[in-house]
Amino acid sequence: MRNCMWFRSDLRVEDNTALAEACRSATDGVVGVFVVCADQWRGHDYAPARVDLILRTLAELSERLAGLNIPLRVVEAARAGDVAGLVAKEAAACGCGAVFANAEYEVDETARDAAAARECAAAGLGFHLRHDQTAIEPATIRTGEGRFFSVFSPFRKAWLRRGAEEGGVSLRPAPGKQKPISIERTAVPARVKGFESRVPAEVWPGGERHALSRLRTFAKEGLEGYKVERDYPGRAGTSRISPYLTVGAVSTRQCVHAALSAAGLEAKGLDVKGHERMPAGPGHWVSEVVWREFFTHVLVGWPRVCMGRAFQIHTERLRWSENEEHFRAWCEGRTGVPIVDAGMRELLATGWMHNRVRMITAMFLTKNLFIDWRRGERFFMRNLVDGFLASNNGGWQWSASTGTDAAPYFRIFNPISQSEKFDPEGSYIRRWVEELRDVEGPAVHQPHDERKGLPGMLRMKIEYPEPIVDLSASRERAIAAFQALRA
Ligand SMILES: Cc1cc2nc3c(=O)[nH]c(=O)nc-3n(C[C@H](O)[C@H](O)[C@H](O)COP(=O)(O)OP(=O)(O)OC[C@H]3O[C@@H](n4cnc5c(N)ncnc54)[C@H](O)[C@@H]3O)c2cc1C
Repeated sequence: MRNCMWFRSDLRVEDNTALAEACRSATDGVVGVFVVCADQWRGHDYAPARVDLILRTLAELSERLAGLNIPLRVVEAARAGDVAGLVAKEAAACGCGAVFANAEYEVDETARDAAAARECAAAGLGFHLRHDQTAIEPATIRTGEGRFFSVFSPFRKAWLRRGAEEGGVSLRPAPGKQKPISIERTAVPARVKGFESRVPAEVWPGGERHALSRLRTFAKEGLEGYKVERDYPGRAGTSRISPYLTVGAVSTRQCVHAALSAAGLEAKGLDVKGHERMPAGPGHWVSEVVWREFFTHVLVGWPRVCMGRAFQIHTERLRWSENEEHFRAWCEGRTGVPIVDAGMRELLATGWMHNRVRMITAMFLTKNLFIDWRRGERFFMRNLVDGFLASNNGGWQWSASTGTDAAPYFRIFNPISQSEKFDPEGSYIRRWVEELRDVEGPAVHQPHDERKGLPGMLRMKIEYPEPIVDLSASRERAIAAFQALRA
């Protein structure tokens, strides 16, 4: 039988569950299919930088697959609703008997796959969905009472216990050469209309090879110091692997394995005790990767988070500010709070933002400006090269105190103290906020402050805005609004 592998957010050859199975069970070759659907990408707020990385990664994938005699067919769907039928049609036209794909867990994607199963059945094709996006299938990790976890720490323990089980996080075999077939691969488009990226391609080189080499380099050079370095946005202390996880050029299993092997524990595998024995750097990094798994687990357990609903439903009674000028200033990085503006400008220039600054900017929007977290979530998604619904929603609802395991509403980051603590020399701010490049010393954290900022004359000279909001009064306003929910 000839099989069809439908690629989506799993653009790699190695450690790919559905591809490995499609190849293992095929007797008459394998065909790859990828659907370009601008309508679906627009509906899901894909950022141009993300689409650009997808296309460049796809181009490399097509080459690698050709080397395995697997032609990649890139087809275009005009509407999101056409995707499922188009895949079944393409698979049938290529003489396939079954379609294989790795599951995606968001509500629309789940509905699309149910439609694909129906379309395939109607065309006389098998349809096989495999679990691959997370190292461990999200719905299979449960509390003792069989419920989904809504708190991270016990989830992490349960995840580690599952990881230790037979085959828990083991890597899938890379496919070998397939039987040559007379189907041509099609060209991968270099761009898709409406998704012209302003982020230069060299910021995020495309492809599985680059993703794996980035992972290896980080495992060798960055993991050891990760626990300390990870919080400083001015240093290269994190892996920056997230865009490659989002497009699936690398898998979470490969990340876990890289950490285990850096700690010399690959042969021993992973369990709660093994994780405790890991050195601080790799151990902490694995925990961060598990956060990604946790948020996917939450999305599967409470699908309403995919549909703009708060995890903590009572917080939907909050009456958010509708100050458009404030929202625009935040989006454009001109709030007058340097660390916030640096983060937003990093996002606009590179499609990525450091985790610490994602938390600071998200808390500033939702607490100090008191603007609805959904607006920030959407703006991030529309600009992030690593936009991933589960983590983006999880991060936003954490920051807004509306989510699982969220920051308590009264613990509001002070962006200035955060800036002084995590960008002590101000190098991150100076890098992204041009107007402050020549400001020396700690004044860079709040240049307009009468006590800690620049001397009067210099303050007048810089073309950097004064803060658009009073940090302490706005903090009190947010706390009062959350307290009123309890009345
Ligand atoms: C408001 C907000 C929005 C976010 N939106 C996204 C998003 O759209 N896509 C995304 O991948 N991550 C998101 N995150 C999580 C986190 O900021 C990024 O995963 C991280 O900054 C990526 O950089 P890195 O690869 O260098 O991470 P590293 O520190 O090297 O961590 C390795 C990997 O672990 C995972 N990870 C690390 N921290 C977190 C976390 N807090 N939550 C979930 N997973 C984590 C990521 O997959 C990451 O690539 C968001 C966080 C916040 C606070």
